[in-house]
Amino acid sequence: MNNLLETPIEYLKGVGPTRGKLLRDELGIKQYADLLNLYPNRYIDRTRYYRINELQNNNAEVQVAGKVVHLKTVGDKKPRLVATFRDDTGEMELVWFRGQKWVREAIKINEPYVIFGKVSAFNGVFNMPHPEMELLSEHQASLRSAMQPVYPSTEKLSQRGISNKMINKMMQQLFVETKALFAEVLPQSIINDLKLLPKNAALFNIHFPKSQELLAKAQFRLKFEELFFIQLQLITKNLVRKHKIKGHPFGNIGEYFNKFYNNYLPFNLTNAQKRVIKEIRNDMGQPAQMNRLLQGDVGSGKTIVAFMSMLIALDNGFQACLMAPTEILASQHFIGLNELAAPMGLNIKLLTGSTKISERRIIHEELENGSLHIIIGTHALLEDKVKFKNLGLAIIDEQHRFGVEQRSKLWHKNDIPPHVLVMTATPIPRTLAMSLYGDLDISVIDELPPGRKPIQTVHRYDANRLKVWKFLKDEIAKGRQVYIVYPLIQESEKLDYKDLMDGYESISRDFPLPQYSVSIVHGQMKPADKDSEMSRFAAGKTNIMVATTVIEVGVNVPNASVMVIESAERFGLSQLHQLRGRVGRGAEQSYCILMTSHKLSNDSKTRLETMCRTNDGFEIAEVDLKLRGPGDIMGTQQSGVLNLQIADIVKDREILSLARQYAIALLKTDPNMKLPENASLRNAYIELTKKKNIWNYIS
Ligand code: ADP
Ligand code: MG
Repeated sequence: MNNLLETPIEYLKGVGPTRGKLLRDELGIKQYADLLNLYPNRYIDRTRYYRINELQNNNAEVQVAGKVVHLKTVGDKKPRLVATFRDDTGEMELVWFRGQKWVREAIKINEPYVIFGKVSAFNGVFNMPHPEMELLSEHQASLRSAMQPVYPSTEKLSQRGISNKMINKMMQQLFVETKALFAEVLPQSIINDLKLLPKNAALFNIHFPKSQELLAKAQFRLKFEELFFIQLQLITKNLVRKHKIKGHPFGNIGEYFNKFYNNYLPFNLTNAQKRVIKEIRNDMGQPAQMNRLLQGDVGSGKTIVAFMSMLIALDNGFQACLMAPTEILASQHFIGLNELAAPMGLNIKLLTGSTKISERRIIHEELENGSLHIIIGTHALLEDKVKFKNLGLAIIDEQHRFGVEQRSKLWHKNDIPPHVLVMTATPIPRTLAMSLYGDLDISVIDELPPGRKPIQTVHRYDANRLKVWKFLKDEIAKGRQVYIVYPLIQESEKLDYKDLMDGYESISRDFPLPQYSVSIVHGQMKPADKDSEMSRFAAGKTNIMVATTVIEVGVNVPNASVMVIESAERFGLSQLHQLRGRVGRGAEQSYCILMTSHKLSNDSKTRLETMCRTNDGFEIAEVDLKLRGPGDIMGTQQSGVLNLQIADIVKDREILSLARQYAIALLKTDPNMKLPENASLRNAYIELTKKKNIWNYIS
């Protein structure tokens, strides 16, 4: 049976060499199996008739029964033919741009028709351009198969006559030649448990659905199967790592950790912080390398978790490092960690591109002789000259900015790799994180420190700027400080830069010296100048910080309570959320003001509404995911994983969780899939990993 599915596609009756080549080139269909796994993009449901008052503005293709009551030509330059179409529940419009003369002659007024096509709404009226039309009498005489699959295609394919109809025919031929006997791959216990359709029935109904219900079942079964195999690979990989990659077992929780915990803890840890520290402690106690992702919203208190993890390494006689993506962020981390470390008498230093050579030399020496306990830095830490005596823990902040290669470069500084903790403030919905970072363990700080006042977020149009400025003046009068952020997007950097400078000038005019003072920080300034402006603002010497997104990550000025984001429609959701996280760090009520022009796309509107509605990073991440799709969120690096055939990581998250749950359970009882009842699963797994090895495209 399997052999039959490996038959080259041109041997399928009705295909032949020419079409075979087209199918190969255009859709990657090389053999029978590839055609079988070409799933329809969508289905046209001609089992159901919609009433006009049930129509939705969703571009779906629907059929409606009714009568044309009126026909007219509209518009001078580009006239179009518009028909008023009526049923018992209301009226809609049918529109033609082409072939108007013919339509006008063919249409019978006040005769029952069935129309079919895409509907959308304009000014509250539904319209269907260029509908397929059939008199109701003819329609009833020629009942067609209920659900019509629509397969993926390309322009070339349709030009060369390989229409949807033809693919449909090929599929029928495939089912005839193979007698539709497709081997089951999932264990019977899972099929029973989840009441899944057997493989045969699933494949049949995905291509020739007998009903909506069977189609849904077929989709569920095939999605589950696809995600299940991915999870098997990910979990297996994680298990292998835990067995194969050695790590320092840091069994001692000693002086530093306990001293800090008992004497210098600046506040009570939240339960989430406690839980995460426990997870990290446990990992670091194992003789296998820790590889953990720590997710926590801005302000959730990751710094202290990072610090206490470092103390575990120190207690065992090892060093720790923290790497951040920008100098500003690295120095902010340095300030924060130094504060925590100060009473402990630890040697902690900062290494960035702008560290002076003399200072650098000292750092290199101290790292090598082990007298430097903790080093914070940027990419500068990755230089070959930087050698550790014994690096026990590497913490990496803001995961998405560092490639996998850089991560592993840190590892290779020692024979036994250090434990790795990756911190990110960009929440990734948990199920998605699991499927993308399946090789990392995940900790989540899902609780903010007590007493935080939720930030109030509002959307204002540029036209209302005077009112916004008045508000800023009132806040400044109360002693608060303000950020005003401009977008800086690489593609339009010059223009953006001009916007920023223009903005700075007019802000300086509107908030004049000596009453006010305004700082500015942007990417084209020298690091030293940036730092000095930042510190002036941090010290409260200036009231307003005008900046580009360089302040996006990490800066901590608790007295700053207002964040104004200019051209907010140009920022992505996660960026808006990160920026907003710069305020709300003190005891005062904080505000975020999103300034935009009046021209807003639907997506921009959704982003702004989401920001005004919630402060919850995970909720925002979910919306972001829906708007952008996962490929964008993760960057190109992981997009390979997302080349799924039928499942959609975003929409099918629940199936994903289920698949993961079942994969974990299966591997727990049968880690190598050696049990007889898992034999066909094992075969399919081996086949799949030959073709689609997830190890190749997940970090
Ligand atoms: P982030 O997760 O964004 O890095 P930080 O570690 O910078 O957050 O913490 C944000 C602020 O909250 C800091 O001022 C920190 O001192 C404070 N903080 C952290 N944890 C607690 C806690 N458990 N109780 C009170 N304040 C806390
Ligand atoms: Mg932080």
